[in-house]
Amino acid sequence: MQEHWQSALTDMRGRLSEENFETWLAPIAWGGSEGGKLRLRIPNKFYADWIRTHYLDLILELVRHKSGLRDIDVTWEVDERLAQERKPADKPRESTPPGALRPASGPSAALRPSSGTLGPHGQRFPANLNPKYRFENYVVGPSNQLAHAASSAAASSPGARYNPLFIYGGVGLGKTHLVNAIGHRVLEDRPNARILYVSAERFTNEFIAALQNHKMDEFRDLYRNQCDVLLMDDIQFLAGRDQTMEEFFHTFNALYHSDKQIVVSSDVYPQQMKEMEERLVSRFQWGMVADIQAPELDTRVAIVKKKAEQERIDLPDDVAHFLAETVQSNVRELEGTLLRLAVKSELLKQPLDLAFAREALRGSQPRRESMTSVDDIQRAVCEYFNIRMTDLKSHRRHRSVAQPRMIAMYLCRQRLNTSYSELGDRFGGKDHTTVMSAVRKIESRILGQDAEVLASVQAIAHRLDRS
Ligand code: ADP
Ligand code: MG
Repeated sequence: MQEHWQSALTDMRGRLSEENFETWLAPIAWGGSEGGKLRLRIPNKFYADWIRTHYLDLILELVRHKSGLRDIDVTWEVDERLAQERKPADKPRESTPPGALRPASGPSAALRPSSGTLGPHGQRFPANLNPKYRFENYVVGPSNQLAHAASSAAASSPGARYNPLFIYGGVGLGKTHLVNAIGHRVLEDRPNARILYVSAERFTNEFIAALQNHKMDEFRDLYRNQCDVLLMDDIQFLAGRDQTMEEFFHTFNALYHSDKQIVVSSDVYPQQMKEMEERLVSRFQWGMVADIQAPELDTRVAIVKKKAEQERIDLPDDVAHFLAETVQSNVRELEGTLLRLAVKSELLKQPLDLAFAREALRGSQPRRESMTSVDDIQRAVCEYFNIRMTDLKSHRRHRSVAQPRMIAMYLCRQRLNTSYSELGDRFGGKDHTTVMSAVRKIESRILGQDAEVLASVQAIAHRLDRS
């Protein structure tokens, strides 16, 4: 089995960029196998997470192909010695995996019971950024334009205008990518800036470890005094974790009052973060809240082309288009589908053309979300309020049509997750910001228990569910 693994690894070296290969696959060491189960050793548990989401399919597919066995599985075994062995060759920030792994002398190591004090001054601060996620390879479209602009402004003058910057968007839509891109951009302009990328989950774990090991002083020193830009990913993780939230609140205040940039990402809109302390939520709103929507077709096409270029996959335009139309849910899935397709075409030695893509994706056609469509919702709203479709799609601002229009937009977002700009088109050519603010307005009325809005939304939803 080991030779199949080695041979798969050789294939992967040829397929991936050198940087990706060296960062993610080269550190994996063979640990043995039983039956169809490969035991692979990795320097750190965060490698496993990363590899699982990005390379596991590829690994499994290759090893299955090499060994001729269908039932191949992988277990990961953390072996910290591997990190030590590889260290001298590592370039500081280019090879640091996300949400994890800092050089052993780095700050989080200081929080581990056995290690020494904080990293020596003068040493480059280990920012913990993912080398892949930069502005240069972020595709901008109407769905993420605002978040992109705010991120790049925050990166060019950290701590100034967009502070804190709150990036909000659904799963797999590019929050982590943007947050990392900010870090890279700041470092390009200010190589000595002390940047800290941390997921809220990791922050929580470090906080708990610091409490247990009586290292709170170090923990606080790191987050409150040692850092110029704090990039906190997936803040929704703190919801309901009162003690960590409290700690973060003080971290936030300390950084904010010394004009340090804070960037926070979340898959929940600030006011909708249940169990998030109110004073924290209100602080998030001091700065800028920018959201990322599901990308429109054109943006998806551009993203899939960009990824193909990056991964050196020869992707014809019609296939790019087909993929973008087929995989609409999120960018991560789009990327994964592209990579799987490329591997498959290579293994089967068939050209990656439209016929091949259609065949390969047969059966994974997009789930039809439901039978409801934008039309259905518009019709139901018109019926309920007894207004005409032309009024619903008009620009009239009278309350009798404006409110139903906003409710229809809200229901479309909620039930179909159609992008704002697409909805703008479907509602008689409105700007995506108009749709966005309409949806927000209804959301806040619902949150505020506005009886009239609640009753209409519920009644219309009920109609839609019955039909
Ligand atoms: P999130 O953190 O919102 O769940 P990620 O930032 O992890 O999403 O994005 C998922 C994947 O999609 C990443 O590989 C990222 O590079 C890619 N991606 C998302 N949006 C874009 C974009 N606009 N341009 C290029 N790649 C993108
Ligand atoms: Mg993320």
